[in-house]
Amino acid sequence: MSQHDFDLFVIGAGSGGVRCARFSAALGARVAIAEDRYFGGTCVNVGCIPKKLFVNAAHFSEEMETAYSYGWNVPAAQFDWPTLIANKDREISRLNGIYRSLLENAKVQVVEGRAVLKGSHEIDVGGKRFTSRHILIATGSWPVMPSIPGIEFALDSNDFFFLPNLPERVLVVGGGYIAVEFAGILNNLGVDTTLSYRGELFLRSFDQDIRQHLRDALVAKKIQLRFQHQVVALEKRPDGKILATDSSGACDQFDAVIYATGRAPNADSLGLEHTAVQRDERGAIRVNDYFQSDEPSVYAIGDVIGRVQLTPVALAEGMAVAQTLFGPSPKTVNYAAIPTAVFSQPAVGTVGLTETQAREQGIDVAIFRSTFTPLKLSLAEKKEKTLMKLVVDKATDRVLGAHMVGPDAGEIIQGIAIAIGMGATKAQFDQTIGIHPTSAEEFVTMRTPVA
Ligand code: FAD
Ligand code: NDP
Repeated sequence: MSQHDFDLFVIGAGSGGVRCARFSAALGARVAIAEDRYFGGTCVNVGCIPKKLFVNAAHFSEEMETAYSYGWNVPAAQFDWPTLIANKDREISRLNGIYRSLLENAKVQVVEGRAVLKGSHEIDVGGKRFTSRHILIATGSWPVMPSIPGIEFALDSNDFFFLPNLPERVLVVGGGYIAVEFAGILNNLGVDTTLSYRGELFLRSFDQDIRQHLRDALVAKKIQLRFQHQVVALEKRPDGKILATDSSGACDQFDAVIYATGRAPNADSLGLEHTAVQRDERGAIRVNDYFQSDEPSVYAIGDVIGRVQLTPVALAEGMAVAQTLFGPSPKTVNYAAIPTAVFSQPAVGTVGLTETQAREQGIDVAIFRSTFTPLKLSLAEKKEKTLMKLVVDKATDRVLGAHMVGPDAGEIIQGIAIAIGMGATKAQFDQTIGIHPTSAEEFVTMRTPVA
């Protein structure tokens, strides 16, 4: 009989924690999980899922516009934000229940409350003590905002999902995934939207052609893009409006200002001082390839380790820890060529190396690029173009990267990612017979390099 209450105690029932808890229990471990806020974590409650529901809601405005060109006479449509919020909340609470029952059905003991480490094998949840052979920290991340005067008047991404009313004029600050996605949602829902980014062009780590194509598409949609723009102060007016002052001294007034300036690992006040767990300069928990911290009994995964803040990555890391601790052999995660999508409107999908990254690595690349109007929009007045791009290693013919802006980019790139992960060559892309008429077929029909 073990000297501990559990084999594994997981802190945080988000994407990574739930996955690791369930699979560890399936491998025969005695598992408990503590959650102090919401089952399913960020992704289910204030992340991927509600965000994608909002993206869907916002996209209907474009679909209705396109419908006219196909002969549909759609009467002037009204959008009701409170209905969307209420329906979203109902769906999320259904998912919270599903996550809880997934854990209970897997025989994982669920402990509600905030968990704090009291030692290398000891955890406190609301005054109740537990011991465990292994502990997994899967506490996620939290939005961070710069400390400028009046920042308390800004909203963060969590607040956006619970706004009682849709504001008329909004400033979104940031140039990453969340800022670009939120700006697209707001604009398509009819909000006068401005995006402020401190750099030259948003989505810094993405392929340059993709960033430029998306910029042009958002400008055409009348989103006001302010690049190389720094908001230095916010002030709340008596009428409730927020006055934003920039570094040139110019002021502008908004009904709401939303900051999406990154997320920091959620590792404060966790009782780490009672263990040998170390954090890096960004506050992320330091782990080795097997997600083991400097305290051998304590593991960490997901956003709290600050590697790649994506749900499928947290899931893969959770699986790896379950396998390492309770499976036949230790497992790591391969971080190469992680596919990802930005659910902007139009969407971005990407996998593998950008052209710049490949060239910086000294690889002699051939670039295949195609810009076209998707068939669906051929009858429409507004012909928003799709962009597809392949980065190919001339020496080996391997496709190193695939990038796209256009409808269903995430759906299309997910399939391409399998080929790229398997080391497919451009010749193999070319041998693949297309599905006609689709946009995706362009990925297997681009024949002439542009560079
Ligand atoms: P989380 O899912 O955040 O779970 C951590 C859990 O730990 C939380 O439930 C928290 O309440 C709990 N917790 C924290 N401290 C304690 C404690 N001391 N005791 C008990 N419980 C505790 N990723 C994608 O792949 N695709 C997307 O489209 C996408 N969209 C996003 C949109 C937004 C607006 C945001 C904010 C994020 C999005 N992400 C997306 C990122 C994704 O949500 C995260 O990468 C993912 O949720 C991280 O999982 P995790 O398990 O590390 O942490
Ligand atoms: P990101 O790291 O993607 O972007 C943060 C942005 O804020 C960057 O443009 C950054 O600029 C800017 N920024 C940072 N600090 C400041 C500052 N002090 N003042 C002004 N601007 C600043 O973070 P997000 O918050 O957008 O999202 C967090 C993470 O969640 C993402 O990285 C992603 O991993 C995940 N996510 C995934 C989604 C998906 O898969 N579709 C959707 C949403 C989130 P700079 O580029 O100059 O550093």
